[in-house]
Amino acid sequence: MKFAFDPAALSVLPIVGSDSFFPIRRVFCVGRNYADHVVEMGGDPDREEPFFFTKPADSVWTQGTNVPFPTRTENLHHEAELVVAVGVEGADIEPAEALDHVMGYAAGVDLTRRDLQAEAKKRGRPWDMAKGFDHSAPMSPLQRATEIGHPESGRVRLNVNGQIRQDGDLAQQVWKVPEIVGNLSTYVRLMPGDLIMTGTPAGVGPLQAGDSVTMSIDGIGEIAFVMGPKP
Ligand code: MN
Repeated sequence: MKFAFDPAALSVLPIVGSDSFFPIRRVFCVGRNYADHVVEMGGDPDREEPFFFTKPADSVWTQGTNVPFPTRTENLHHEAELVVAVGVEGADIEPAEALDHVMGYAAGVDLTRRDLQAEAKKRGRPWDMAKGFDHSAPMSPLQRATEIGHPESGRVRLNVNGQIRQDGDLAQQVWKVPEIVGNLSTYVRLMPGDLIMTGTPAGVGPLQAGDSVTMSIDGIGEIAFVMGPKP
């Protein structure tokens, strides 16, 4: 096949203990999945059905030191999240079978232009420009489930300049990984290479240029980066 120009390079996640990489196909994200974060965002913590939004595959950031600071925001927020990596195709997956489709896990940050998101919510507009901007998904390398299993608990922490901002636990998730995979697969056929960011615990807050961010999930991974200068 002849292309009019060179196709873009694939976005990838390194795999811990391996020289092969996880080729990223799509990035799905769950909204409101920890009761304490639902409350801090002014929502109702009842167990309503999960809802999803997306980020482009090339918004995943894994390399270097500085995450470029996004344009068009005065209120950039961090959200510390468990990332689920899909390794096996499936649609209408039963929750009891869902973990068979999960290849592994990573630690990730769902960077959010909170001001644009608030405006979009108010006006009934889409979230894409609030959530899916360039470099909006810093992630750690992937841990294979064959190495670490399928963790149901583990501390989720995010520090900014050495100060703890988010300190939750995977056990607090409203919707567990098998339910998320099952529910999402009723909307789209999940494919190898899909990533799912599974929501954030309480403590989301603003990031400034030059802030040093460390985010970790016990037993899964850690990512550290510095927010670049404001554009
Ligand atoms: Mn999020």
